[in-house]
Amino acid sequence: MRVVLFGPPGAGKGTQARRLSRRLGIPHLSTGDMLRDHVRRRTALGQRAADLIDAGQLVPDALITAVVRGRLRHPDTAGGYVLDGFPRSAFQVTALDTMLAETGTALTAVLDLVVDEEEVVRRIGGRQICSRDNGHIFHLHSAPAAVRGLCDHCGGELYQRADDTPATVRDRLAVHRASTAPLTAHYAGTGLLRTVDATGTTEEVTARILQTLGLPGVLDTAVAQGS
Ligand code: AMP
Repeated sequence: MRVVLFGPPGAGKGTQARRLSRRLGIPHLSTGDMLRDHVRRRTALGQRAADLIDAGQLVPDALITAVVRGRLRHPDTAGGYVLDGFPRSAFQVTALDTMLAETGTALTAVLDLVVDEEEVVRRIGGRQICSRDNGHIFHLHSAPAAVRGLCDHCGGELYQRADDTPATVRDRLAVHRASTAPLTAHYAGTGLLRTVDATGTTEEVTARILQTLGLPGVLDTAVAQGS
């Protein structure tokens, strides 16, 4: 199953992609995570991307497309993947189509997680991420860690992303409206687009996604525990 998750920043793409990845046993490919990893390791790519990420702007298409192309060559993607954060521009849609054609594969679905912008600003303001690189995300308001500032799963310190400030979130929403939201029309035209209401609890949204993918049923323990 090859699934793309669409939606504004703060729609829960990362959280849902991780849960879906565990439920389906396929990798979660987040271009934001890949770029942040490059920034942390101070690679040439990371140095080019850092200021753009902090400003909430998109990194150049050619750069991110090369990263995705490399990642999709990895054998762990043979059985499918959950793509989170890509494509984000018309150029990237075409590039993804080319990569799929090269491997003789096709997308299963493009899920558009729909949530209003006020909710996004509220969610992102409280978002905290585990520093130990395992992707666990908490929310001060709706899903706080049991011990403030520490990951429930591994005890790692939680931090706020540098681009999760209110001003940068507004910029990221503007970029989303201008560059990414129009892509839903393309995927609606191909018949792949499915709209998912992303309000409510994490579990409710996961259940809606599984239903939309035609995979209803009891959530497995790993998903239900949010691990
Ligand atoms: P995310 O974690 O998906 O919110 O991405 C964080 C930041 O990484 C974005 O605001 C962009 O600066 C950059 N980024 C991630 N994915 C892409 C992409 N597909 N195209 C361009 N920039 C991206």
